[in-house]
Amino acid sequence: MDYRKQFFVHPGTKLSLAGIDPAQTGDQASGEAALPEIQRHVARMAELQALLYADGKQSLLVVLQALDAAGKDGVIRHLFSGMNPQGTSVAGFKQPSADEAAHDFLWRAHQRTPARGEVVVFNRSHYEDVLVVRVHNLVPQAVWSQRYALINDFEKLLVQNGTRVLKFFLHISPEEQLARFKQRLDDPARNWKISETDYSERTLWSDYVAAYEEALRKTSSQNAPWYVIPANHKWFRNLAISQIIADSMEDMNLKVPPPRVDLDAIARKYHAAAAEQKKAGGKASARPAVKE
Ligand code: ATP
Ligand code: MG
Repeated sequence: MDYRKQFFVHPGTKLSLAGIDPAQTGDQASGEAALPEIQRHVARMAELQALLYADGKQSLLVVLQALDAAGKDGVIRHLFSGMNPQGTSVAGFKQPSADEAAHDFLWRAHQRTPARGEVVVFNRSHYEDVLVVRVHNLVPQAVWSQRYALINDFEKLLVQNGTRVLKFFLHISPEEQLARFKQRLDDPARNWKISETDYSERTLWSDYVAAYEEALRKTSSQNAPWYVIPANHKWFRNLAISQIIADSMEDMNLKVPPPRVDLDAIARKYHAAAAEQKKAGGKASARPAVKE
């Protein structure tokens, strides 16, 4: 199953989240059976990240958006833990600070976009400015309705600068969300994650759905695609996202860069004596080469 094809939001077409079953698991029978495949994709992601870093020409931005408890944190923990922390980071976007609020809405996002060679995951993102901001009327409609075009221009700028942009909406049902809130309430290790606003936001579910539908429809493109990921089953969410990221990174044509120095000349200069000594049974005097 090619999840990039299956879950891509086609630009401009009508998107109805109600028509996408958040509990679907495609042709996969169980989480246990899917585990080896998930592990394979996670390993590919890690390998490709090392190449991206070595190559140093392109970058990857992964945007995660969802309603509460849909699993953004789980995606980060499960799928990005194999990547080298050098060159990988997560940027979380909560209520803007006074300084952030005093700037345009893209300012704080732009500061955290990946440099060449880097992978950055946005845990929430600049999309909050057409989601929570719209649902709670934090700015007038005349302001937020202009933002889709601004977001498209912003992402176009990133893409033209060598950034691959992948955006995931984790799609859960209200029933699944309530069940997860209850787990957070019952499990002392997870109590810290629950707040009363989580419950009050549920009453705005249909407003959020409408805001997401419009945002996804207006800002999905071949270059900066949105994927709606059925996320009631955590393992299926992980399977779909890891496959999409690994496949997309493979398309980036990443290569180990050519050496910047004359390897033969260096080997002759610094290792010839050591090689001679070794041949003669003596102890090498040159420092051994370290594989970084
Ligand atoms: P969890 O899912 O674990 O609860 P979270 O991402 O919801 O994590 P919280 O601290 O609970 O983290 O919530 C952050 C809040 O900040 C969210 O309610 C989000 O909508 C809000 N937020 C983010 N960006 C903006 C913005 N630009 N304007 C207003 N609110 C924002
Ligand atoms: Mg929250």
